[in-house]
Amino acid sequence: MKRLPCLYIIVPCYNEEQVLPITSGLFLNKLTDLIDRHKISNDSRVMFVNDGSKDRTWNIIQELSCQNFHYIGIAQSRNRGHQNAVLAGLMEAKDHCDITISIDCDGQDDINAMDAMVDAYWDGCEIVYGVRSKRDTDTFFKRFTAEGFYKLLNWMGAEVVYNHADYRLISSRVLQELANFKEVNIFLRGMVPLVGFKSTSVYYERSERIAGESHYPLRKMLVLAFDGITSLSVKPIRMITAFGILIAGLSFIGIVWAVIGSFLGKTVTGWASTICIICFMGGIQLLCLGVIGEYIGKIYLETKARPRYIISDRTSEKNVNNVEEGVQR
Ligand code: UDP
Ligand code: MG
Repeated sequence: MKRLPCLYIIVPCYNEEQVLPITSGLFLNKLTDLIDRHKISNDSRVMFVNDGSKDRTWNIIQELSCQNFHYIGIAQSRNRGHQNAVLAGLMEAKDHCDITISIDCDGQDDINAMDAMVDAYWDGCEIVYGVRSKRDTDTFFKRFTAEGFYKLLNWMGAEVVYNHADYRLISSRVLQELANFKEVNIFLRGMVPLVGFKSTSVYYERSERIAGESHYPLRKMLVLAFDGITSLSVKPIRMITAFGILIAGLSFIGIVWAVIGSFLGKTVTGWASTICIICFMGGIQLLCLGVIGEYIGKIYLETKARPRYIISDRTSEKNVNNVEEGVQR
């Protein structure tokens, strides 16, 4: 019989004191259920990643780790954002387990979809994407903006799985390869498909947050979309080039038209229209410079190669086992 895989559930947490006491139990129940059904080994863990929370989140994680050895936690030295928190958890886990499942801490993603994810792993898949089948519980505005987000990303050349956020199973084999993607501007949804390996999707219904508030208002979502696009694609720069060619072509036609006009004795009187065009072109040029500047900014950050996460604390080390039995860190 195949050796039972060790699963680490990676849960990023930022100011989640309201939901953590509720959802931590749900994660543990799922983990023990999978262990009881001999789908995963007893070494499996729920790993919380505290992303520099300002409330009692880290205290709660520490208390949980004392209550049950299946709970462990790491803390980032400060708030670095959801993507960095997930990456920190994945990189920490990759040497201790066979599979990871990253999931938000607010109970919005259906925990039961983990069964199908682990089954897909048993069937040979190394990456299993959790995809939202519908968003009935989201407000119209959230649904509209979130779906627009995926369409915009794909249209701009950053290929992502439609309606998949960061709820996914990744094997440690894939994580070892993902660790070689050294970029500091991380957008996991776009990076994971680039690694390749056999993958599939599992569909689930997204529910409402159990408690607390979303940390992803429209502004942050737009920042994430723009970050994703500029991290994964150079299509915006190509669009600027195409736009430049179009404008140059139109200007050429305009010049021909003006020359013909002057030969026919029709002098151009419009001052306002000239100013309008100058202002419009000035705006477009600034916008294009901004987009190019964004890429230069990214190059600047990449050349600095600062650490993508800094782990300041870990819950009791004895809870982290090595994959080889009995080996302690
Ligand atoms: N999160 C994080 N760091 C942040 C913001 C959010 O680790 O700076 C975590 C948060 O605790 C949650 C997950 O990322 O587990 C998703 O955040 P949220 O539920 O607020 O986003 P939404 O589901 O509304 O898009
Ligand atoms: Mg949420």
